[in-house]
Amino acid sequence: MAEKICVAVRLRPPISQETCSGTFWRVEDNRISLHKLHGTPISGISYAFDYVFDETCSNGKVYELLTKDVIHAAVDGFNGTAFAYGQTSSGKTFTMNGSPNDPGIIHQAVNDVFQKIQMISDREFLIRVSYMEIYNEEINDLFAVQNQKLQIHESLERGIFVAGLREEIVNNAEQVIKLLESGEVNRHFGETNMNARSSRSHTIFRMVIESKGIDSRQSADYSSSDAIRVSVLNLVDLAGSERIAKTGAGGVRLKEGKYINKSLMVLGNVINKLSNGAKQRAHIPYRDSKLTRILQTALGGNAKTSIICTLAPEEVHVEETKGTLLFASRAKRITNCAQVNEIMTDAALLKRQQLEIEELRRKLQGSRSEVLEQEILNLRNDMLKYELEREKLEMELEEERRSHKDREQRIRDQQLKIENLSSLVSDGDRSSSQDSRKESPKDECNDRGDYFKTPCFKAAGNGFVAMRSNNSQLQDFSPLPDSFSNVADEDTWFKMNKGYIADLDSLQMSSARKVQSFPPQDIAPECSNDIYKEELQNLKRQIELAIQEKNKLERKHEQDIELNGRLMGERSELKQELEACKNMLEASEERYGSLERKFQVLKEERDSLQKSVSESSQKLVVVTNQKENIMKDLNSEVQRRKDLEAEIKQFSVSFASRQRSLASIHGEFKSKIEKLRAENPVPLHKY
Ligand code: ADP
Ligand code: MG
Repeated sequence: MAEKICVAVRLRPPISQETCSGTFWRVEDNRISLHKLHGTPISGISYAFDYVFDETCSNGKVYELLTKDVIHAAVDGFNGTAFAYGQTSSGKTFTMNGSPNDPGIIHQAVNDVFQKIQMISDREFLIRVSYMEIYNEEINDLFAVQNQKLQIHESLERGIFVAGLREEIVNNAEQVIKLLESGEVNRHFGETNMNARSSRSHTIFRMVIESKGIDSRQSADYSSSDAIRVSVLNLVDLAGSERIAKTGAGGVRLKEGKYINKSLMVLGNVINKLSNGAKQRAHIPYRDSKLTRILQTALGGNAKTSIICTLAPEEVHVEETKGTLLFASRAKRITNCAQVNEIMTDAALLKRQQLEIEELRRKLQGSRSEVLEQEILNLRNDMLKYELEREKLEMELEEERRSHKDREQRIRDQQLKIENLSSLVSDGDRSSSQDSRKESPKDECNDRGDYFKTPCFKAAGNGFVAMRSNNSQLQDFSPLPDSFSNVADEDTWFKMNKGYIADLDSLQMSSARKVQSFPPQDIAPECSNDIYKEELQNLKRQIELAIQEKNKLERKHEQDIELNGRLMGERSELKQELEACKNMLEASEERYGSLERKFQVLKEERDSLQKSVSESSQKLVVVTNQKENIMKDLNSEVQRRKDLEAEIKQFSVSFASRQRSLASIHGEFKSKIEKLRAENPVPLHKY
C-alpha cells in the first residue's frame, strides 16, 4: 500500500545567547513559521509537517510519535529507515544518539526491538547489526577498522549490500549498545578533530531482522517451503547539510566538502525527483552517490521511512533553516510502498547454516543452559564472519578476473594494431620502392596516401580514434561548475532542489581520460615510415610491459585461486567442526535426557519415601501420645501401689500392736483363769 514518508522538524534550544534582532521561528501545533520580532508572520515562510517539535521536546517523545511505528513494523518484516537531516550543530546526533538522560532514537529503537520480540512467542528471531560510515564517498566499517573503502554490490538474494561489511549476530540490547560504543571509538581512531569528521560523514546503523514462525508441531526437520521474514532497519545520521560556501577554504576540507555535498546533493536530487510524482519518476539517480545507493529501498521503494529535519533557531542560521524546511517539504511528498519481505529458507547457504544451529538451539531449549546459548551465539558469529569473508574474497576474485580479462583484451588489441602497423610499414616500404601512388576514389583516406588505404586500419580501432573526455563539454549544458571553489556565493543547494541539475556526472572529479593522439595529417609521406617504425617500437615496448603485467596478474590470480582453495579447506574444516559440535550437542542432549530420566525415577522414589516417612511420623505421634497416656496411668498406678503399701505397712504395724495387746490380754485372761481355777476347783466328772 502506498504511503507517504513521515516527516517531522525539530527546533533545538538556542545555544548562543544572541539577542534576536529581526526574526524568529514560531512553532504552533504542527506548523513552523518565521515571524518578525514584533510577532507579525512573514508571508510565504510557513510550513506544516506531520510533527513539529519545539525546543522543549525530548528524544523520548520524538521516538514515540515519529519513529516507533517504523521500528515495530521492522520487527513485523517491513524495511524501515529513520534519517536525521540538518545543518551541523542543529541536533542530528543529539536526536539519533541522545544524551545519558535522554537516550536517542538508536538506543530506544534497539531496546524496543528486543522488548517487542520478547513478546512475540510464536516466532523466533535472528538479529544482525552493522555500523558504517560514508566519508569522502568511501564506505568504512565502524565495527572493524581494517574494513575500509568497501564496495556496494547487488545480488538477487541480498539486494543491494555492502560487500565485506562486518555483521554481528546479537541477542540482547546491551550487546548492541556495547558494539555501538566500540564503533564510535573506531570512528574517531586517529582523528584530531572529531567534530570536523562527524559533520562531514554519514553514519548508517543497520539492523537486519530475520524471523520465522515456530513450528507448533515441533517437528525435527524444517520444511524447505517455510518462509523467513527479512527486514532491514537503517538509522542514519547524515552529514551537515550546510552549503559549501561555509565549509571554507581549499585543501582537504574543500575536498571533503565536495564529496559531502555530492552525497547530499544527490540525496536532494533523488528526493526532488521522487517528489515530482509517478510520471516523472523515470530515472532516479540513486547510483550517483553511495548514500542514495545504500538507502535506495528507503527512498521511494519498499520501506517505511521517517525523516527528522533538525533546525538551529539562531537568526544567523535562518537561510540554512529555510533550506532544510524546503528539503523537508519535498520529502513530505514522497510515497513509498512497503510490504513484508518473505524469502524461502533455502535461498542462501548462510540461512541453511543458521537454520541448522537454530534447530540445535530449539532442541536444547529445555536445558536452559546459558553456556550452551553463548556457545551457539559464538558459533553463529564465527560462521557469519566466515561467510562475509568468503563473500568479500569472491568479489575480489571476480574483480581480479574482470580486470585480467580487460588486460588480455587490451593486449590482443595492441597485438592486432602491431600487425596492422607492420603490414602498413611493409606496404609503405613497397610503395616507396615502387615510387608510385595508386589512387582509390572510394577510399576516404585517399588524400593521405596509399598507406591509409588498408581497411584493417580502421578495424584496429581504438588507438586511432580520437576520444573526447566525457567531462569536456558538460559545462555548456549544466549549471554546475566543475570546481566547487566557484560556488561560494551561489546557492547550489537551492538550484539542485529546483531541479536544474539533470546530470551529476559533472561532479565527478576524475581527471580527463588519456586521449590517444591522432597522427598529424600533414606528415610528409617520407617521414611516415620512421614515425610508424618508432610507433611500432613504442607499441612493442608497451606490449612487453603489458605482458609482464599480465604475467604478474596471472600469478596473482593463481595465488588468489590458491587462497580460495585454502579458504574452501578452512570452510570444510569449519563445517566438520560444526558437525562435531552438533554431535557433541546431541550427545550432551542425550546425556541430559538420560540424567533427567534418572532424576525422575529418584524423584519418584524420594516422593514415596517421603510419603511413608510422613505416615510413620504420624503413627509415631499417635504412639507417643499413647505412651504418654500409659506413662501417666502407670505413674498413677505406682502412686496407688505406694499408697497401698504404706497403708499395708500401717495396717501391719497396727495389726502387730493389736496382736501384742491380744497376746497380753490372752496372757492376762489365762492367768486370771488359772487363778480362778486354783481358787474354785471343779470336780473332774462334770467335764
Ligand atoms: P549535529 O549532529 O547536527 O551537528 P549535535 O547533535 O551535535 O548537532 O548538536 C549540537 C549541540 O546542541 C550539542 O551540544 C547538543 O547537545 C545540543 N543539542 C542539540 N539538540 C538539542 C536538544 N534538542 N536539546 C538539548 N540540546 C541539544
Ligand atoms: Mg553530528
